Amino acid sequence: MKIEPLKALKKYFGYDYFRENQLEIIETVLNGRDAFVLMPTGSGKSICYQIPAIVSRGVCIVVSPLIALMEDQVKGLNQNGVRGAYLNSTLSYQKALEVQRRVADGLLDILYVAPEKLLTRNFQNFLTRIRPALFAIDEAHCVSQWGHDFRPEYLRINEVTAKFPDTPRMALTATADDITRKDILEKLELHHAQSFVSSFDRPNICYRAQVKQGDKQQLLSFIRAEHPENSGIVYVRTRKRSDSIASWLSKQGVDALSYHAGLSPEQRFENQKRFQENDTRVIVATIAFGMGIDKPDVRFVAHLDMPSSMEAYYQETGRAGRDGQPADAWMVYSLADVMAMRRIFELSEGTDEFKHVLRKKLEALLGYCETVECRRKLLLNYFGEKYDGPCRNCDSCRNPAETWDGTVAAQKALSSVYRTGQRFGAGHLADVLMGKETPQVQRWNHDCIKTYGVGRELDKNTWMSVFRQLLSAGLLSVDMGRIAGLRLTDESWKVLKGQQNVFFRKDSIYSKVKSTRQPSKTDKNVFEDEGSRRLFEKLRKLRLDIARKLEVPPYVVFHDSSLKEMALIKPATTDNFLQITGVGASKAKRYGEVFLDCIRGDETGG
Ligand code: ADP
Ligand code: ZN
Repeated sequence: MKIEPLKALKKYFGYDYFRENQLEIIETVLNGRDAFVLMPTGSGKSICYQIPAIVSRGVCIVVSPLIALMEDQVKGLNQNGVRGAYLNSTLSYQKALEVQRRVADGLLDILYVAPEKLLTRNFQNFLTRIRPALFAIDEAHCVSQWGHDFRPEYLRINEVTAKFPDTPRMALTATADDITRKDILEKLELHHAQSFVSSFDRPNICYRAQVKQGDKQQLLSFIRAEHPENSGIVYVRTRKRSDSIASWLSKQGVDALSYHAGLSPEQRFENQKRFQENDTRVIVATIAFGMGIDKPDVRFVAHLDMPSSMEAYYQETGRAGRDGQPADAWMVYSLADVMAMRRIFELSEGTDEFKHVLRKKLEALLGYCETVECRRKLLLNYFGEKYDGPCRNCDSCRNPAETWDGTVAAQKALSSVYRTGQRFGAGHLADVLMGKETPQVQRWNHDCIKTYGVGRELDKNTWMSVFRQLLSAGLLSVDMGRIAGLRLTDESWKVLKGQQNVFFRKDSIYSKVKSTRQPSKTDKNVFEDEGSRRLFEKLRKLRLDIARKLEVPPYVVFHDSSLKEMALIKPATTDNFLQITGVGASKAKRYGEVFLDCIRGDETGG
């Protein structure tokens, strides 16, 4: 070993301690064993292979699908004095050759490659010559079609690594559901790997969900009331909506840009960059956005349309609060969303098994939306983690929902499903119950059935809520065909026969969660004196100038948390500067002087 892991952590990254599992994982591969690493986003997966890369002889090969991120990752490493490079399709032939030569000369510790690159014969021959010290397979869920980002090339990574039986492998992912997890172990043949599963709890994220009713206004109220200045991501389902919501928000005075696959690569890059540099506050995105965004101070993730599964939800909300400071995961949902998503995959080419899995996933998500229990409990239990709650940091825990005895309403609703032939959606069934004379009602003569008009005591929103909750409780199911009508289940009959009572939750349209938050030590407005706050802003400005010159995102220079510490502690010497979390030897050398100058200048009132 060239240097002890803990010393390397301090020297290169400026951190004093390993986080949970990091050292154990590092030691496992240093001892030649394979490792499977499951950790939530933001918990520090990269350190797990970067430290072995630094301390061992030979180069560590990191397979990653995030081509757009590689350059930043490598720049970040270089900033810390780590010898890294990458190989992917964006490099010229000459540049690629040069990188390979540096590896062969022992001048690199870590090499990021795209999976396509790894699979080429050329690169494999190269590997045989250099004999890598470690294979790190990042975003390992890409090997599974149950994950949210299947990449066929990942299925062939084994062919390559199998030729190096003495080189340990590390597979890393933040995708936690059981079926994907098992699939990864199988497809990557990691049967003998030591598994490290961290808790998936993100205690700083407050989970909230509300029924969709005038979604734009709901979003605006939320942002205005709770995040008037913070950065956030708004997820929507379509490109068109991404554009229209972004421009609508901007008109309301909330700076927002869109991000989706329909924009040119240049435009996408530009918007992402402006978001990263806090030049725009909100990004309104489709799922095309995310993989590859590493902004630590995103304070809220808002789902204006439902994600497709709990994993997707967890991944997307996971982009909030990577710096560990309080953040919100906020969602509005509707039955129409669920139906729209079902229609998409029911009509797709997938096998029955595939559709069955997707259906289950969607049901789980609806159950999550409709729950009156602690949301964190549901979320963690879904990922197979034991957790009983209450967490005191979700809307269910903070503002317990009111419930009402809906047994009679449920009977009426179920009976309307039955008497209309189990083939209609909730909207029409609600009209029937309320005795409306719509064209649809007339067309099917539904004004002649027994349940017509028996539900005038409730309004349409309440009936929609009843149908949604019946569905999420398994008291109704959705027809699998293209009509996607509601059907009774075996359980429904117990309610119809009066053998089971039903309680419903009262919907809340917008509620500010009761705040029980303790402002944390490094919260932006935690500075006790105006001077520190001003210094912090000056340091941010300095950081931005440097980042622009180097063409890297600002956090690559220093994280907000490091700047806050500087503003509070006001280090005066290089030694003091090295004590700041996130300042390693390399950064102290590069930036120590300018930052110390800035701090000193401030002291003297400059
Ligand atoms: P992930 O890949 O799991 O999403 P990263 O590897 O990007 O997470 O790490 C998230 C953040 O945590 C990074 O800013 C990283 O520098 C920081 N970090 C990782 N390990 C430690 C540690 N031991 N102490 C302090 N900060 C850490
Ligand atoms: Zn809770």
